Parts: sequence; structure tokens; C-alpha cells
Amino acid sequence: MTRQQIISELKKYFDIRELVCPHTYNRFGQNSWQFLETEILHVLLVLRIDILKTPLTINDYHKGGSHSHRGLRCNICQLVKDKTAKGEIYLSAHVNGAGLDLIPKGMTAEQARKKIESFKSLLPYPVRLEKNVSWVHIDIYDYCNNNQVNYF
Ligand SMILES: [Zn+2]
Ligand SMILES: [Zn+2]
Repeated sequence: MTRQQIISELKKYFDIRELVCPHTYNRFGQNSWQFLETEILHVLLVLRIDILKTPLTINDYHKGGSHSHRGLRCNICQLVKDKTAKGEIYLSAHVNGAGLDLIPKGMTAEQARKKIESFKSLLPYPVRLEKNVSWVHIDIYDYCNNNQVNYF
């Protein structure tokens, strides 16, 4: 699939505001798609359609929820700003358009991680999953160790 095809499929399931922080959306609107790497977008589509097959909530603030930093985080997002102010490095996949936090409908994060592991051959790229968190953090940072799924 081309990047364009991936994005047009994703638009059936996700609003761009679910994938980027409010600062980014307010400045770039629909052009905010440009900041997300093709690999993570393709992985998200495969998770939604072929692996988890259930609605995935990312940012929900535009629907009255309180989460706005589960997708792309920009340099003025508080979390990122704080790290910079403290002189700490912050290279989370969230700041590189390479990672997302998902809340899958109808299953726990742990169940979703197990399912991703079982169906990892369907993943178009190697991924990383964060262990022991109540959301599914998935990103496409690649250790080049031939594992389709790495845990951190
Ligand atoms: Zn931001
Ligand atoms: Zn995360």
C-alpha cells in the first residue's frame, strides 16, 4: 500500500485529532498527517483491521475526554517542555511521529499485546511494545535484531 492509500483507509476509522496533540492540530489541521511516519500508520491500520479488529481510542479530548497526548507530542507539549527545561533528553517515539498509545475496545491492554504477539506475522514492520502499562504503547523504533516484536 502507498502512504496515500494507508491514510485514506485510516480516515475511515480515525480523526487526525486522535493522532496528534492539540497544538499540532490547531496549527496544521488536516496537514498534520504529514508528521506521522508511514510505518506507524500502516501498523495502526493493520492493528485496526487485521489483528485487534476493534475500535482503538487514541486521543479523545475532542470528544470531551481528557487525553490529548497519546499520539504525536510536539515541543510545546508540557511533558516535552518539562524534559527540555530540566535538560533531559526525550526521544520517545511520540515526538517523532513513530508511536501511539491505544485503548482497545473490549479487551485489556495485556490481552491486546498477547494478540499482537500471536499475529505478529501480519505486522508490516517490526514494532516495540511497552510492557506492563494499562494502555498499548506501540511504535516502530527498530532494533534490527530480527524480532518482529520487541518489548521495553
Ligand atoms: Zn503539543
Ligand atoms: Zn506511549
